[in-house]
Amino acid sequence: MIALILALVAGGWIAWLSERTPEPRPADAPPARFSAARAMADVGVIAARPHPMGSAENRRVRDHIVARMRALGLETEIRRGPGLFDRKVRGDLAIGGGTIENIVGVLPGRDRGASAVAVMAHYDSVPGSPGAADDASGVAAALEIVRAIRARGVPARDVVLLITDGEESGLLGAEAFFRRDPMAARIGFVVNMEARGGAGRAQMFETGTGNGQTIALYRRAVAEPAAASLSTFVYEHMPNGTDFTLPKDAGLPGVNLAFIGRQFDYHSATSTPANLDKGSLQHLGDQALAVTLATAFAQALPEPGPDQVYSQVPGGVLIAYPTWAGWLVLVAAAALIALGVLRARRTDGLSAWDAARGAAALLFAVLGAAAVLTLARKATGAGAGHFEQMWLLAQAVRWEAAVLVLALGFLLLAAATASRGRRMVAALPAAAGIVAFLLDRQDYLTLGLGLAAGAIGLFAYWRASARPGAWTGVLLTGLALAAFLQVAAPTTAYVVAWPLLAAAVGAAATDMAARRGPAALAVLALLAALTLGFAAGYAHAAYLSLDLMALQAMPVLMAALALWPLAQPAEGAPPARLLGPLLLVAGAVLVAVVRFDAPWSARHPQLSYVVYHVDQDAGSAWRTSLAPAGPWARQVLRADGGEIVRREHWMQRQPAQAAPARMVAEAPPQITVTPLPDGRVSLRAAPPPGARQLALQIRPSVAARIEQVGGVARPLELKPGRWTKVWWEAEPSGVELVLRPAAPGGLEVRYAATLERWPAGVRPPPPRPADVMAFHTSDSTVVTGTRRFTW
Ligand SMILES: [Zn+2]
Repeated sequence: MIALILALVAGGWIAWLSERTPEPRPADAPPARFSAARAMADVGVIAARPHPMGSAENRRVRDHIVARMRALGLETEIRRGPGLFDRKVRGDLAIGGGTIENIVGVLPGRDRGASAVAVMAHYDSVPGSPGAADDASGVAAALEIVRAIRARGVPARDVVLLITDGEESGLLGAEAFFRRDPMAARIGFVVNMEARGGAGRAQMFETGTGNGQTIALYRRAVAEPAAASLSTFVYEHMPNGTDFTLPKDAGLPGVNLAFIGRQFDYHSATSTPANLDKGSLQHLGDQALAVTLATAFAQALPEPGPDQVYSQVPGGVLIAYPTWAGWLVLVAAAALIALGVLRARRTDGLSAWDAARGAAALLFAVLGAAAVLTLARKATGAGAGHFEQMWLLAQAVRWEAAVLVLALGFLLLAAATASRGRRMVAALPAAAGIVAFLLDRQDYLTLGLGLAAGAIGLFAYWRASARPGAWTGVLLTGLALAAFLQVAAPTTAYVVAWPLLAAAVGAAATDMAARRGPAALAVLALLAALTLGFAAGYAHAAYLSLDLMALQAMPVLMAALALWPLAQPAEGAPPARLLGPLLLVAGAVLVAVVRFDAPWSARHPQLSYVVYHVDQDAGSAWRTSLAPAGPWARQVLRADGGEIVRREHWMQRQPAQAAPARMVAEAPPQITVTPLPDGRVSLRAAPPPGARQLALQIRPSVAARIEQVGGVARPLELKPGRWTKVWWEAEPSGVELVLRPAAPGGLEVRYAATLERWPAGVRPPPPRPADVMAFHTSDSTVVTGTRRFTW
């Protein structure tokens, strides 16, 4: 019991140490070092106000960066042109783009012909957010890095500061640079800096394809590494991207760094310089500077080669090795487990049935925890979307504590029950799965998880199993899973293999926990604490990355391997076996607090997103809330005396709360369709004066191919009768699409132009209370309508 509690406390302490950000360096730090305080001067200027692409504030920020780059001695240019993206959204085509202004500055190196190192960040923000973290911190860090490089002398090769525009609108600046700018051919390595939240350690979460040499360099160069090959693997299989996606797709090596903590501030009005964690900026800058120095002053740049397996471990060390060496880890773990089994058989005897029940108890713990945590997520009452999730993000510490306490509680319960064989426990995850399904009739996954855990639990707890046998089953299950990962996705296998190796050391040293002297307990507690610290880092990352509680099954499994012999008390001795249930009760209380105690405050204001919708097809206007409306937003909606209804309109992704409003005259966009002499058709759409963005939906009656968008050749097929979304920003003259239709026909064009102001002559939104904030293009006028053309 004492060993267990010591291991939990020490594990928590290790996790806390591992997640801490470094102390920010002051403004008078040595010139060759990165100083967050120095960088904050630029963050303050850039993030004074929101500065989305095409806005006057964006131009102010651009001019500041250009002046700073020239003062640093960089050959600086604004490179203006179209940026473009296209993607499939649920089978339908979506196109976006606009006119971007990348800022490119060159710090000359000794060999001007050598491939250059690019230091990249984006200077645009989303509308409505000052973007202190995303990505003023990256831009300011890039400027501070150049200053530090100059303090060290002339680098071997050019360093290119690539400060992109339009990242938030679809990686437009990076697309324009890496697809069409001739300067891109000079780049040989990319260091990108991003943020997805206002705090936390900066993770090197993505590399170029084939990262062996890059990881070797990163490990040599960086003092406080934070990286894991699992995240590179995961990111490779995710649809969303950052600017780094473009050079990566072009085959360039490089590193992508970001901090993702305190996500309430992500794309939020609260992402101010004051709220930015300066330690995060320090950690971001330290790593980016180290990698930039290691490449800029090197004779050769890293080249693509076989991937490495790597992860930081408690103690601030990055362990890295080639994928084949993962087999050595597994062989060592297997040998140690075998040794433990042999010695346990000599002392206690081991039953194969106990091992089978132990393996089942581990699966029960992992699947059951996933079901219980998913139910807890639903029990918070917060929905799944970005807006609904703000309820949880505003009280992220409480909610994460609830998740960790529940996960740990369930794991301890599962292990402790093995000694006693209480079949009743199997009902717990089954009930969680059923309740989760009753709350959401589409959630067959959690129902399945809960019922499977219940069935497995019946077998696991049919009888009591002795600890050495049960732990043997746990370890063999871990070994099988690690071997499967080593075959299927070798850069991820370490997630199981390393905790397994630690546990196997304990198994060999303590005869599979058959020995219980103080020395054996100390060894087990130490290994459990290290493993817990390691697993907690992954629990935290899983918690931050996706709002998917089932992901916590992985850290539960990691922790279980080494914690098991401490968590399964001898023959169910009472104090230890009560710890799990106690934690589950505490977790439930925390969930109740999260659900019922409204988190809104001046630091974490409730989000509001109200627009004045002028529907020119219907000749009516609506005050519409594009996010769930709180009291302030409802007041705005009712200001013209209309009642709030749920209204559907194509400009909204889903039905929204809206109230009738006074119709006002607003200029529509200018849209023309002109047949060209060569049989093609030109669609031109220009936003009304003052609109920064224009969204279109186009539907041809016959098949047609888009040949050009905004002057960029981009062949894309339009299906007859299907809507394609097109949005264009930061270009007063609008966009031209050149289509080649398969036959005579017509085109329907819907438009939605956003004017970032309230209409003149109607009652404006009242001032917001301190605990309410505007989101994105809130307080805008949206003008929608439809045009039909034939050719
Ligand atoms: Zn960003």
